[in-house]
Amino acid sequence: MTEPKVALFPGSFDPFTKGHEDIVKRGLQLFDKVVICIGHNSQKKRYFDIDLMIEKIKEAFDNSGAIEVVTYNDLTATLARNYNAKYLLRGLRNTTDFEYENSIAQVNKRLNVDLETVFLITSPEYAFISSSIIREVHRYEGDVTPYLPYRL
Ligand code: ADP
Repeated sequence: MTEPKVALFPGSFDPFTKGHEDIVKRGLQLFDKVVICIGHNSQKKRYFDIDLMIEKIKEAFDNSGAIEVVTYNDLTATLARNYNAKYLLRGLRNTTDFEYENSIAQVNKRLNVDLETVFLITSPEYAFISSSIIREVHRYEGDVTPYLPYRL
């Protein structure tokens, strides 16, 4: 039997947006399983509660077995080894993302040569969505429901 193709999708997901959902759905066309890995350092304060976010992400995917949601406080390259994942999934919105992602991908390759970073270009309808803007809108009581794949 061939090994299942597992991809990690690491990020802060504070919050997980429709843009992230789109990357996961498209990732599932390429991989058997996508593990959504919420990077979390207990010393760093999040805006959206991490347990709530885990619950909401699972809800967004109808608790599908093809996705898993985990939190981690480690190198992504190490986490990939633990999950036997050969792929890292990342989304690219623009050239700013590219500059940043390029550096991370180079470092990850040095840390774990078996790991390939796979980039998906953002669907245009979600390209303007960023977690930081959503936090800002939410902080001042604006409506964020159009940007999230679940109800808060
Ligand atoms: P990080 O803090 O690691 O940048 P994010 O949670 O902001 O984590 O993003 C995780 C991944 O999702 C990154 O690859 C980022 O480029 C991608 N991403 C963020 N917003 C969108 C979006 N609107 N559409 C597609 N990909 C996105």
